[in-house]
Amino acid sequence: MYIKKQRLLTPGPTPLYPKALYAMLGSDLHHRTDDFRAVYKSVLADLKELMGTQNDVLVLVSSGTGAMEASVTNCFSPGDRVIVCSAGKFGERWGEITKAFGLNVTLIEEPYGKSVSPEAVAKALAANPDAKGVFVQASETSTGAAHDVRAMGEAVKKTQAIFVVDAITGLGTMPLDIDAWGLDIVIGGSQKAFMVPPGIAFLSISAKAWAQMESAKLPKFYFNLKKEKKNAVNGESSWTPATSLMLGMAEALKYIKSLGMANLVKNADQLARATRTACAALGLDLFAPEHPAASVTAVKAPAGMDSGVIVKEFKNRFGSIIANGQGSMKGQIFRIAHLGYFDYADLFAMVAELELILKANGVAVKLGAGVAAVEQAYAEIAIEKKETVNA
Ligand SMILES: *Cc1c(COP(=O)(O)O)cnc(C)c1O
Repeated sequence: MYIKKQRLLTPGPTPLYPKALYAMLGSDLHHRTDDFRAVYKSVLADLKELMGTQNDVLVLVSSGTGAMEASVTNCFSPGDRVIVCSAGKFGERWGEITKAFGLNVTLIEEPYGKSVSPEAVAKALAANPDAKGVFVQASETSTGAAHDVRAMGEAVKKTQAIFVVDAITGLGTMPLDIDAWGLDIVIGGSQKAFMVPPGIAFLSISAKAWAQMESAKLPKFYFNLKKEKKNAVNGESSWTPATSLMLGMAEALKYIKSLGMANLVKNADQLARATRTACAALGLDLFAPEHPAASVTAVKAPAGMDSGVIVKEFKNRFGSIIANGQGSMKGQIFRIAHLGYFDYADLFAMVAELELILKANGVAVKLGAGVAAVEQAYAEIAIEKKETVNA
């Protein structure tokens, strides 16, 4: 096997939308010009439309974590009580950021692979009536588990706390009715379902969150949301924006609008479902079977096998880059992504590669069993089912 195309198949960065990539070649432009202001405004307007919210949407130059930090530094004061839901590496990041800025953290922790229940959030809010914020991941990318942010939102809505949702892999993979569910801050990133390289984060901000900002005393400078909002009205950012990424985003957002956000979500959901049936057909266990996210499927390596071997084999045999587990999950799981610019052909290939890798490593799999499951899933959705006489 001589030609191996490199395929980026991780849950961030994700495969790039080609037209977005080409658009980035037009980067020799100045950001304080009408040409660029038009791009900036279109990105903000399209993000708002795709996120389906009446709340303000702002863009920041950073990876997703920058917007996570911005939500903390802009909305809270030292010593504020907050509730952090943590069931994976990104939940732990909420814990780390809120503690780094001196907030008083009540942690609701679940083991990796599980999800924090909405009831636990309601209970924590009742026990901490002074809580000013609740933090969670819509989709915990490190474990492949989803959170019921709708039910959590119902509980948070009734309190003074603002609900801060890291939807960096939730946006474009699960329904999120930001306004109806009371999601005060919803954070996204360019390199996940939005099909462009890393470097842009964005967030929607509700009136309740803006109001809390008025009394927030934590220091901030680069990520100043009030300042960004003032500038955004004029199609400008406070500092030099990532012009190339904005050009890419503008093109990718056009594409996502042509699909429809609901269909982008469906796309991920269908691929995730097909992946789960393929895993079952291959005798592989899911890492988060109870509340599986559509963004990424975390799969346990077969007994006695290091998942790092599978990840390496994907790269060496096929040029495919897939994700290992993070932290203590490294070596235990591998992750198959579905968010953004992924299609069925990607999944056919990924599952076929997986079967060959397992077989080459002495795991008893029937070649084709996983692929057949994916094909069956495709057929059920996309090939018209004809009723047979005996059916
Ligand atoms: C990717 C990701 C982030 C952000 O990570 P960055 O490396 O800062 O972009 C945060 N939360 C989740 C759930 C993610 O998947």
